[in-house]
Amino acid sequence: VPELPEVEAICSAIAREVTGRKISGVQVRRAIAVHPQTPAAVARLAAGRTIERVRRRGKNIVLELSGGMAVRVHLRMTGELYVSRDEERTPAVRVVFELGGRRLVFRDARALGKVHVLTQRQLDAALEELGPEPLSREFSATRLVEMAARSRQPAKLFLMDQSRVAGLGNIYAAEALFCAGIHPAKPIHRVPADRMMRLHAAIQAVLREATRAAKREYRRPGTLDEGEGFQCRVYGRAGEPCLTCGRKIRRVPQGGRSTYYCPGCQR
Ligand SMILES: [Zn+2]
Repeated sequence: VPELPEVEAICSAIAREVTGRKISGVQVRRAIAVHPQTPAAVARLAAGRTIERVRRRGKNIVLELSGGMAVRVHLRMTGELYVSRDEERTPAVRVVFELGGRRLVFRDARALGKVHVLTQRQLDAALEELGPEPLSREFSATRLVEMAARSRQPAKLFLMDQSRVAGLGNIYAAEALFCAGIHPAKPIHRVPADRMMRLHAAIQAVLREATRAAKREYRRPGTLDEGEGFQCRVYGRAGEPCLTCGRKIRRVPQGGRSTYYCPGCQR
């Protein structure tokens, strides 16, 4: 599942190739990808507009179009967004934006991802539930501590809640908690202030490092695995020794996903 670093890498890769390009047409090959909009509506709303800017908000990709419209893409589990010079004929291709000699392609094997064309107001409404961007100035240690004080969630689920911190997912939430020495099941409001300060710094450090790795590893569609090029300390390392204390990393189910942590370092 792409998280902030992977989505950021995708945004910067496609921005170079689509910014300033005009959408001459849109092929929606699977209506489910644009539901509840219709393929005809998506094509009509986007065609003829120029892509003015590509940006990321949480795990969303936003293409700002001329005339105040925007394309919002959410990759969900297996979605990919990339630029191609070829006719894309594989069945997993859901939506194709024709850009005159090149195409912006949305491919999604599991068909859970979404592409919508929205007005600025609809876009704002769709993104309004998102919490602060963790690498922005808005995301201060004070703000994190205030949000945590009002929550009863376990630390890991708090971090994965997109209304708290936008863009964190399973891998980097686990990594940040390890770096801060916080047990993933500990209720977030009971984490002492000094460790909350460490958590704030850890979230930013982990995301910066992972974003650098994702940009380095991203070469072409389908080649970017989550966490690729990033040295995971706990994620995916069940049974292996902790790099800090040597105890075995544990994997436990939490919120329907696997959580990895060190029983020695995380309390
Ligand atoms: Zn350890």
